[in-house]
Amino acid sequence: MNAPAVSPADSRLHFYQPQGSEVELFLHASRNQLPVLIKGPTGCGKTRFIEHMAEQLKRPLYTVACHDDLTAADLIGRYLIGNDGTFWQDGPLTRAVREGAICYLDEVIEARKDTTVVIHPLTDDRRILPLDGTGEQLHAAPGFMLVMSYNPGYRNLMKGLKPSTRQRFVSIGFNYPDEQQEARIVMQESGIDLQTAQRLCAVAAALRKLNDADLEESPSTRLLIHCARLIHSGLPAEIATEAALTETLSDEPAAQQAVRQIIRALM
Ligand code: ADP
Repeated sequence: MNAPAVSPADSRLHFYQPQGSEVELFLHASRNQLPVLIKGPTGCGKTRFIEHMAEQLKRPLYTVACHDDLTAADLIGRYLIGNDGTFWQDGPLTRAVREGAICYLDEVIEARKDTTVVIHPLTDDRRILPLDGTGEQLHAAPGFMLVMSYNPGYRNLMKGLKPSTRQRFVSIGFNYPDEQQEARIVMQESGIDLQTAQRLCAVAAALRKLNDADLEESPSTRLLIHCARLIHSGLPAEIATEAALTETLSDEPAAQQAVRQIIRALM
């Protein structure tokens, strides 16, 4: 079985450029012990936002990258066999519940259905986590907060989030930042000059207007930052955009040609 990717928060402060009132909303959700659902396309700043908020709130953060083999036991914990026999090891959700930390389930729709059974009693007034393995019934420490994210674009009929689960959360809709904000982010994250960052973001804005038939997926802020880093490290813009944008966004020659045309016109 695959172990979930778990990463405690980085100790340095993460730069975060707010898009609207999400910071204030999150602080109020935290104060009222409400779980939060973050919706938005890939690479638009969801994870960065949570990292930033965990730092602001001075809470540990446990991030779990969900995948289709992820089970409730991966979140809660399990018995392992060591030199001295079997012992119980807490999973990231259990650690967060005990410590009063933030537990962030990234792309939660990917996880197996049995994970929702675990989530429900934690997301209402009970705030409990029953550990069948140890017989404990944990009450979440005051700072505990459950945050989940998903990408509505990837929703498929087999895997949607059930309304009974959704309605336990306060939801925040994310999208790509507007051009000015995105240019500031790209500049900050790559070290590139503002003018080049603005041109890259103009390319992204034009590419995002193409419809699904032209391009399967829009370029993310993350992709723009990769491209900007290549340019900043001295690679000619033409080679950087070809590798980070054109080749990454499509395998179809016609779509690639459309991307190149936009880059040529705007860079
Ligand atoms: P997601 O979790 O939505 O897939 P990330 O949070 O990992 O995306 O964002 C990808 C990268 O884009 C981040 O590592 C960060 O460099 C940058 N980024 C996106 N939005 C912002 C923002 N609002 N403020 C600062 N950085 C951002």
